[in-house]
Amino acid sequence: MSDRDKHTTINDKPLLRIGAVSKRFGSHLAVDDLSLDIREGEFFALLGPSGCGKTTLLRMLAGFETPDSGVISLDGRDIAAVPPHQRPVNMMFQSYALFPHLDVAGNIAFGLKRAGFSRTEISSSVAELVAMTRLEGLEQRRPDQLSGGQRQRVALARSLARKPRLLLLDEPLAALDRNLREVTQAELLALQRKLKMTFVIVTHDQDEAMRVADRIAVMNKGRLVQVSAPRELYESPKSRWAASFFGDINIFDGQVVSRADGRVSIRTQAAGVLTVPSDRQPADGAALAVGIRPEKISMSAAAASPEAANTLRGEIVDTTYLGEMTAYRVKLASGEAARVRAPNHLRADAPPFGIGDSVSLSFPPDACILLES
Ligand code: ATP
Repeated sequence: MSDRDKHTTINDKPLLRIGAVSKRFGSHLAVDDLSLDIREGEFFALLGPSGCGKTTLLRMLAGFETPDSGVISLDGRDIAAVPPHQRPVNMMFQSYALFPHLDVAGNIAFGLKRAGFSRTEISSSVAELVAMTRLEGLEQRRPDQLSGGQRQRVALARSLARKPRLLLLDEPLAALDRNLREVTQAELLALQRKLKMTFVIVTHDQDEAMRVADRIAVMNKGRLVQVSAPRELYESPKSRWAASFFGDINIFDGQVVSRADGRVSIRTQAAGVLTVPSDRQPADGAALAVGIRPEKISMSAAAASPEAANTLRGEIVDTTYLGEMTAYRVKLASGEAARVRAPNHLRADAPPFGIGDSVSLSFPPDACILLES
């Protein structure tokens, strides 16, 4: 794994092994023969469309659901028969589930009291957790006297109190507004690194998964589609489905017309002949597709050099100002549209290109992804 993206102290030892696990609710297969290793010290994200089985998988790790088949082992020990409260695993819920009648200190201390720790041990642990989650001065407040961000930190402190080997987080930041969410994501990652604990987070938010996770598992219909570091998942998705689910992408279908020097050229109906890197040697006529992310397309008013690979002409039919960038829809000669995103380098009253402008689009072959048709 590249640690140029995130500082990491993960070792290769799997803490958690999920082996061929399935879970059915009535006739619906919520988790389908899923195998996955999660490493010790890793921040791992489960991502996928609604209903794909993320929460069911998380609940099986916590012990709230029992797999119909397969094995879940932690530190080499099968935990199937271990009830939730005896697993060295804790789960932080989206709703936080704080006790409304207990103050912050009481909420954090709850699990420690139940486990029979002494008063001195409890008060020193609570003080440490309060400091770690920046809740100093709020110890005597009840949950209804806290902001959403503060409640989230109390829930986090409470779930860390028993020092679980594995912390499961079910959409932990869903209730926070965008700015607070970004700050909290950074704090969560810093805390996880400091504690060297293994975190598994379920999220709907791709941005969140990229910010915090060392690796992301993308799920669909109860199965794993791809498990990769965020950069690899975005830049080298292994399937058309993963490419379309994770981030925005233009996909042009076509047939192979030639191969040379680790590249193939594909004649697409939408965008003419496009060249893309390939480590395979597909036969002429093979049906494949070229994927290109919208921000990797350069747009200019001038005509592109006719010899350059992957250049197209088109007309802008739509623009959307998004603050840091502008999104364009460009109608190609074929009538199909391409999506382009360009950073807003200048502080300008109007976009550099407007609806009706005729533009050239270009993108180097190395920016493209070869996908199945
Ligand atoms: P979301 O992102 O919407 O929370 P998810 O990926 O977490 O979705 P799950 O909650 O794991 O999805 O649900 C997977 C599938 O299993 C869904 O079709 C859901 O309706 C079904 N399901 C989950 N729990 C139960 C249950 N207790 N009884 C019956 N069906 C269930």
